[in-house]
Amino acid sequence: MMLQDIIQMDKEYFMNVFGDRIPVSFKYGKGINLWDSEDKMYYDFLAGIAVSALGHSHPQFITALKAQLDSLIHTSSLYYIESQSKLAKMLVENSCADKVFFANSGAEANEGAIKLARIYYKKKEQPHKYEIITLKNSFHGRTMTTVAATGQEKYQKPYAPLTPGFKHVERNDIDALKNAVTPSTCAIMLELIQGESGVNLVSKEYLLEVKKICAENDLLLIFDEIQTGMGRTGKLFAYQHYNIEPDIFTLAKALGGGIPIGAVCAKQQTASAFEPGDHGSTFGGNPFSCTAGLNVMDILLNDGLVQNASDVGQYFITKLQDLMAKQGIINEVRGIGLMVGIEFKEDISKELMKKLFEKGFLVGSVGTKVLRFLPPLVVTKEDIDKLVEALDEILS
Ligand SMILES: *Cc1c(COP(=O)(O)O)cnc(C)c1O
Repeated sequence: MMLQDIIQMDKEYFMNVFGDRIPVSFKYGKGINLWDSEDKMYYDFLAGIAVSALGHSHPQFITALKAQLDSLIHTSSLYYIESQSKLAKMLVENSCADKVFFANSGAEANEGAIKLARIYYKKKEQPHKYEIITLKNSFHGRTMTTVAATGQEKYQKPYAPLTPGFKHVERNDIDALKNAVTPSTCAIMLELIQGESGVNLVSKEYLLEVKKICAENDLLLIFDEIQTGMGRTGKLFAYQHYNIEPDIFTLAKALGGGIPIGAVCAKQQTASAFEPGDHGSTFGGNPFSCTAGLNVMDILLNDGLVQNASDVGQYFITKLQDLMAKQGIINEVRGIGLMVGIEFKEDISKELMKKLFEKGFLVGSVGTKVLRFLPPLVVTKEDIDKLVEALDEILS
């Protein structure tokens, strides 16, 4: 089908929530490359928004998915599921969590985490503790409750009245957080690196204080690792950079390598608040999505992809800092591992994204000043050189 025909059909039949998309439709992919209908090759520096961590068409991943398709896709949670138990075990053995629950998306994983926090205090006979504090400019999802958790008015305004029980405070401002805690507070929920609002990091000192406030006030600490988890930052989970463990953390995006799956991971004390009948999902954790998750975990751990994210990420950031020294229009380079952003002094990020696209590089733009990069974790230093060179040419 011709691109123009696809666009026309989209305009006629698909709800217009995405507006004018980037004018391309991809046919196939391999590693960090994608090809469009005219066989033009692109370098994918977004990985489907941090989803395709293994790159496209990873051989072991595809073989495992095909074998699972041939035997079984879905059975429901009425029965035991081998790949579900195995993936839960693998996540527990490689994180601070003791128990896992599987959902179908990031928003749904966060819903699970929020429900778990609330039920935990109900069962502790402290039903007055229900409020959750999150950060301004956060992103936690698009369902009604996760929109309420998200600290951005643009996602909330059209849908008022919102789910009650959320408060938003400025990132890295410990006094603001202290002032927001009341006897109603049950949890603090945050992203260690805010992805959707432009790669903004929570500082180590701040997080240490947050942990202290949680201990002093009997609050649960929840990390939304939907974007930062699964090796993205050069460690399997971003909290490992901070040496601070949450009571609950959530995963999705890269967990299924493109097959929809989300996870709520929690320490035993918190997780035990969920008892039979308290939560559930029809699709969540089915044999197919868990086989996907199992193989993503296996490849991340055994093919050195987390280490590659750390090494190539460091190289990437150094190259961008060199570029910043040369190109005065760059204001800041920030990130950890392969979650990287460049902030410009002027409103040029949308135009830069377009120019890079024309040169065959897929990157993201946040607002008008930030470019962001989330390449597959198989990206090489040579790929980085090509991107930085293209960016340098455009800026010059
Ligand atoms: C993408 C994202 C979500 C939402 O995930 P969906 O799968 O789109 O529901 C939530 N939190 C963070 C930090 C994300 O990056």
